[in-house]
Amino acid sequence: MRIDLHTHSVVSDGTQTPTELVHAAREAGLDVLALTDHDTASGWDEAVTAARETGLQLVRGMEISTNHQGRAVHLLAYLPDPTHPGLAAELARIVEGRGSRAPAMIAALHRIGIELTLEDIAAEVPGRPHVADALVRKGIVASRDEAFADYLNPGRPAYVDRYAVPLDTAIRLVGAAGGVAVVAHPWGRGRRGSLPAAEIERLTRLGLAGIEVDHQDHDADAREELRAIARDLDLVATGSSDHHGLGKVDHGLGVNTTPVEQYERLLDRAAAAARASGRVTPQVVG
Ligand code: AMP
Ligand code: ZN
Ligand code: FE
Ligand code: FE
Repeated sequence: MRIDLHTHSVVSDGTQTPTELVHAAREAGLDVLALTDHDTASGWDEAVTAARETGLQLVRGMEISTNHQGRAVHLLAYLPDPTHPGLAAELARIVEGRGSRAPAMIAALHRIGIELTLEDIAAEVPGRPHVADALVRKGIVASRDEAFADYLNPGRPAYVDRYAVPLDTAIRLVGAAGGVAVVAHPWGRGRRGSLPAAEIERLTRLGLAGIEVDHQDHDADAREELRAIARDLDLVATGSSDHHGLGKVDHGLGVNTTPVEQYERLLDRAAAAARASGRVTPQVVG
């Protein structure tokens, strides 16, 4: 069984439609795929239809933008009820914050002599990756990564802050919605300092169920240490590609996978969370 539990479609900042993503997953030899677009369930229905057609097992999830001590932490939520009022309200607030800051980014770029329009960005919810893609299309930078490094990361000239849910609140809400919370790439991009083992232990007491261990942003040492932390805290240890289509190089489908025994533990946690919440939660398709 090949299991990839973290991927993105055009519904957020991937470059494939949910249908294309499901077909690509099949072609890549995956048996189980989780669709985890940023802060939204709006790709789920299309992905379910495609999964039924291809026989791929589909886990409905999302990757929630959270704030932890002033820094961004991404929280994967598997099989939550997206209509849970508290969760839905926070997701709407994040998406609204992301969508409404494009004009401020355009103005900031204008101040340093780069002319970009909303039409150039061409995304329903224009996040920083879409601004980055527009800068690539204009020939101003060569890649998304370069756009972030030169213009869009915190401290760079076109960075504009937006709302993110406090991490503790997000973990509680995912549980209340009957879902399973897993911290995405906990030590990626310099996050190691803000999520030491003691902090992961505190989050576990709040209801955190797992951490993403095998991810391209983790080197071999980080993976080994995170696997040990997961073992000590009885957390599920996942592995995934964080595939974004053409939006991220070196994140091809299945580049990291989740061992079947860890996947089964995740599903057990999901069943327990669903029962405890009393919500009607989505089931794995297929
Ligand atoms: P936003 O939510 O609009 O602030 O955009 C944040 C998203 O941009 C993250 O969720 C990542 O998927 C993506 N991102 C952040 N840093 C980079 C980077 N250096 N290269 C490519 N994508 C990035
Ligand atoms: Zn993304
Ligand atoms: Fe992420
Ligand atoms: Fe992601």
